[in-house]
Amino acid sequence: MEASDGGESVLDLSRSNLNNLNVDGVSEKRRGDTRQLYLGFNRITVLPDTISRFSNLEFLDISNNGLAMICEDLTRLTRLKSLIAKNNRLDECSLPKHFGCLPLQVLNLSGNRFEQIPSQFLQLQRLQSLSLGGNRLKNIPSEIENLSSLELLYLGGNLISSIPVELANLPVLSYLVLCDNRIQSVPPQLTRLHSLRSLSLHNNLLTYLPREILSLVQLQELSLRGNPLVVRFVKDMTYDPPSLLELAGRTIKSRNISYAQNELPGHLVKYLDLASKCPNPKCAGVYFDSCVRHIKFVDFCGKYRLPLMHYLCSPECSSPCSSNPQSDADSDDEHSVPAYRLQRVLLG
Ligand SMILES: [Zn+2]
Repeated sequence: MEASDGGESVLDLSRSNLNNLNVDGVSEKRRGDTRQLYLGFNRITVLPDTISRFSNLEFLDISNNGLAMICEDLTRLTRLKSLIAKNNRLDECSLPKHFGCLPLQVLNLSGNRFEQIPSQFLQLQRLQSLSLGGNRLKNIPSEIENLSSLELLYLGGNLISSIPVELANLPVLSYLVLCDNRIQSVPPQLTRLHSLRSLSLHNNLLTYLPREILSLVQLQELSLRGNPLVVRFVKDMTYDPPSLLELAGRTIKSRNISYAQNELPGHLVKYLDLASKCPNPKCAGVYFDSCVRHIKFVDFCGKYRLPLMHYLCSPECSSPCSSNPQSDADSDDEHSVPAYRLQRVLLG
């Protein structure tokens, strides 16, 4: 906005003790000139159809009003880029049916009463920033992947228990805030979020992180405090004994026995190609289907321990930290992760 016309384009009616939006008190010219309208800290419980008479509105803040209903004509504001309605009483029933047609880039409805993300929000193709912190959301719908322009997703302070893998399909997501929820695990697919710079997971129910998280090379902040992961350690290992096929395959792979593709049936060649290298740096072995689920604590800057999930080839292939996970730092494993990546991860 130009400084010269700032006076006419901004209309601040916040803290004006308004019970409703009486647009007749504002001249028609002024309404047309208004790009930003501030209505915060009033008592407007219904946003009436007359809002559409601010026909060039780009920014509307109606936070802290006890707002429970937004009328259909809001959708006639075809230039509205930002809608801020924090700390009101809005829920799924409060919104215009065609809300999804608005050209919104920023939507902030934190501190309301949403129990689910309304389907209209998932149609906002231009949305870059969605904040629904401090609501009553129980889940994140898989259709979240429709919001392909989303850069910031703030869902802290809800009742969310899981992260859908579809979230990993948001191509430009940079800030993901899921703190203060009930999340128990992080899907390894999140590693596809190549733009992610900040991931807030503090105050959840996480007991481990997928090892894949280390490949989020853009990540600069990862908050994990207030999770059971640094105090609780998964000791019981789950393990299915390897089949004869697996034992034979392991021998061929770990001893580097050569074989020609045309000497073996196709399914065996395919099977041998699926070998995964055991992540224990002291083990040269491989595994196929049968592996031991294992949590390994990795030291960060000598201050924090980050529990990473990985798989070992056998229960005997344990590393020093599995015998005494709380006090015995396992510095060996740090060498398996490039140091420059560790430096990108901050805990706090
Ligand atoms: Zn091993």
